[in-house]
This record gives sequence, C-alpha cells and structure tokens, in this order.
Amino acid sequence: MTEILKANSAGIDRAVHLLNNGELVAFPTETVYGLGALADDAQAVAAVFQAKGRPNDNPLIVHVSNLAMVEHYAQHIPNVFYQLVDQFWPGSLTLILEAKNLPDEVTAGLSTVAFRMPDSELTLDLIEQLGLPIVGPSANTSGKPSPTQAAHVYHDLNGKISAILDGGTAEVGVESTVVDLTGSIPLILRPGKITQSDLRAILPTLKYDAHLISAEEVPKAPGMKYQHYSPNVPVFMVAKDEISQIPDQANLAIVADESDLINFKQAKIFELSKEYSIEMATHNLYQALRQFDQPEVSAIFVEVFEGENATAYMNRLQKASGGKRLVDYQQ
Ligand code: AMP
Ligand code: MG
Repeated sequence: MTEILKANSAGIDRAVHLLNNGELVAFPTETVYGLGALADDAQAVAAVFQAKGRPNDNPLIVHVSNLAMVEHYAQHIPNVFYQLVDQFWPGSLTLILEAKNLPDEVTAGLSTVAFRMPDSELTLDLIEQLGLPIVGPSANTSGKPSPTQAAHVYHDLNGKISAILDGGTAEVGVESTVVDLTGSIPLILRPGKITQSDLRAILPTLKYDAHLISAEEVPKAPGMKYQHYSPNVPVFMVAKDEISQIPDQANLAIVADESDLINFKQAKIFELSKEYSIEMATHNLYQALRQFDQPEVSAIFVEVFEGENATAYMNRLQKASGGKRLVDYQQ
C-alpha cells in the first residue's frame, strides 16, 4: 500500500525519511505530480523507471530548490541561464545544461541534464530539507496522461511507490516548457505554459521546431518519440463548429467549452472551460481524459483551441489523440 502524506511538516518529514532510505515518493508541483527519488541515488532512480514502466533512454528532470544544486550538477552554465532563472523560477520552465556528477540513470547516458525549480512551497521545502535535488518524471504509468491530483497518482502507482505527498490539484495542468541551452541556438523541446514569446526578450534566437519531435527524426528530447498522454479509450480532436455533428449517445464523451455542450442530453459531458479560457482548458485536460478512460466510453471528443497560448494544450491533445479528428471517427 502506498501512503498518502498530508501537506504539513509531518508529511514532509515522512517524505524526507523515505527518500533518504532510497524509497520513491510522488510530490506535487504546479505543472503535474512528479515521481521523486534522490537524484544521486542510482538505485532509487532506476526504481523510478521500473515503477512507471518508462523506457530507460528517456532522461529525467532534476528538481532543485536553490541554484547551488544546479551548480553542483552542471558545467559551462551560460549567462542566459541566470537571466531566465531570475524571471521564471520557481516556475514551469525546465532548462537543459551540460551535466556533471550525476548517475547515468538520471541523464539516460546523455552529456546533458534538465533542471527545474517547481513553484510549490511544499516541494521546495521538501528538497531544501533533503539538501539534495530529486528527480521527477510525471508520476503516471508511462504513456498515460500525467497526474494532476494525488488520486491520479494513486490510481496508477498504488503499491509500486512508498508514498504520495498530497498538495491538492496542480494549477497549470500540463508539463513544463523544456528549453535546451546547450546548442548553438536555444531550442524549445517541449511546449508548456511559458511560451516562445514569453522567452523572446532573453532568448531572441529561440526556436520551436515541431519536426524535432516527429517520429521519423532522431528526437532531441528523447521522451518525445514515445506515445504519450493517451487514455485507453480513443481520443478525437473536434473543432467548435463540428461539435454538433457528434452523435448524442451515452457511450460517447465530449470535452468542450460549456457553451458547446448545451444540446447534449445522453452523451457524457465535461466542462473543459468557460468563455474559452485556455488556462482553464489546460488545467482540466488530463483530468477529463482520465475521467472518461472507462469501459463504458467508446470515444472521447476534445475541443481544439487556437493561438500561441494554446500551444502546450494542442501539443498534448495531438499526442493523446494520435492526430485523429472527428472525420476519422465518422469513417
Ligand atoms: P517527463 O516524462 O514528464 O518527466 O518529461 C521530461 C522531459 O524532459 C522528457 O521529454 C525528456 O526527454 C526531457 N528531458 C529530460 N532531460 C533531458 C535532456 N538532458 N535532454 C533533452 N531532453 C531531456
Ligand atoms: Mg511524463
């Protein structure tokens, strides 16, 4: 049985004790829940891959509570790193630097390592008390939607990890923006809440090339080549003006803005957003996918959003659906 730890000092003390003993503890962040192990404990880090069923060529993000931790595990740190940290940490920006002093399990054998300072006081306290950073891939079974609540972690990993530190619902709801600072030009490897425009003042040459992560090419972010964020039930993307074509049947689930759901009586519905708030839609996406991942549901339709602030949302929805649209359901 996996222990659920409360968001208080006793909960943190217990998590510290377990992590120091090489055990795995899931922790809250503002993006999604992470699956924690001490970053310098090769055996515990290997157990993270086991618990998730994660391919071991997919490296982990190292979560820090201060910059000394980064400086201990990174080399050749460029000035822009400090400028980015000043503006965006703690927050949902992961930065890739040249690694040193870390077990191969963390970096999946790469010469680089990803760092983030999460915006969760509870987790920052936990890391500060450990005095060492913790690795933290999303705390889900590999390939499934990331957990935004302790209950999601429990569903996927009960019995496979020692504890979950329950910090409530993750505010952002999708994983961090990953930026590689080790190449000749900086690259966004994964879109997140912090957009290319947000970063442009500090990184004027920053590129986001969706082809970097397409199946045919060698991916820069190793994780991107795997199927991701997918429930067992097939997911279809649907535009606002197509929603009325979805049959109103009890075995179908529709995830859309509240204004687009009013005509459905039989279908299962989920209010993704109000007034097309992309923040709200992003916050709710994984919860909706998990809620409808049940045998009674034969398809999940999810509304598409447009605009730069929807880049992260659409990236996860593309992957969850495998690019399938309403027309693919109708065929
Ligand atoms: P998650 O599976 O949610 O932990 O996501 C972590 C993401 O960061 C994955 O897509 C990894 O491939 C990526 N990542 C972590 N470390 C590195 C690295 N050194 N170089 C490139 N991508 C990395
Ligand atoms: Mg993940």
